[in-house]
Amino acid sequence: MSVLRPTKKGCGGGCKKGIRGGMMRVLIVEDEKKLAGFIKKGLEEEGYAVDHAADGTTGLGMAKEGAHDLVVLDINLPGLNGLEVLSRLRRQRIATPVLLLTVRASVEDKVIGLDAGADDYLAKPFSFHELLARVRALLRRGAGASAPILEVGDLRLDPARRTVYRGDQRIELTAKEFALLDYFMRSQGRVLTRAMISEHVWDYQFDTETNVIDVHIYRLRRKIDMPGCPKLFHTVRGVGYVLKVEEQG
Ligand code: CA
Repeated sequence: MSVLRPTKKGCGGGCKKGIRGGMMRVLIVEDEKKLAGFIKKGLEEEGYAVDHAADGTTGLGMAKEGAHDLVVLDINLPGLNGLEVLSRLRRQRIATPVLLLTVRASVEDKVIGLDAGADDYLAKPFSFHELLARVRALLRRGAGASAPILEVGDLRLDPARRTVYRGDQRIELTAKEFALLDYFMRSQGRVLTRAMISEHVWDYQFDTETNVIDVHIYRLRRKIDMPGCPKLFHTVRGVGYVLKVEEQG
């Protein structure tokens, strides 16, 4: 018998837990070094974990990993501009809240930014307190829409609580295994290649000769597909792996 668990996270007012259950993680994409440093320092002092990218292409790559709770995105950037970064993110269904920064504060620009999928807009120059208020509001909004529990067969993963159950048996996973399983569950029924997995769960492409991914998946499978349980992980020889409920009969 499976036990349903509450989906809401009992998160108090000062809580800065992020989507991965750790600290709230903010990505700043801003080429003005001084401004980026100022925002980064200020947010870190407020208890956020902060990453920084100094151009649009790097920022897009980091934001695509989906590991951030919020992106503070400048519009005028070298490489891809902020609006282009934003629309590419949204096209790839990355829904991380985005706060756009710009010197152009005209109504038209604001409309363009919001149309491109920005959640809020801040015109330079701004005070840090103004930025912080927007950041808090966006993060609260994001936290309100609590992440749904992922289910494949009798396997359940709660992204907010970072718990995994097979039936009513709790399964302890390492951070890497959890990230792997999260990816597999979100892609259920889809064959994931090693290249897809390394890009998504690790931040880089592994040498094709390495078996790091296979080793991690082997360990994860042993925990998930316990003896006596129907197998959920399947190897697709020469291609990769798929997580799915095998059809009976
Ligand atoms: Ca800029």
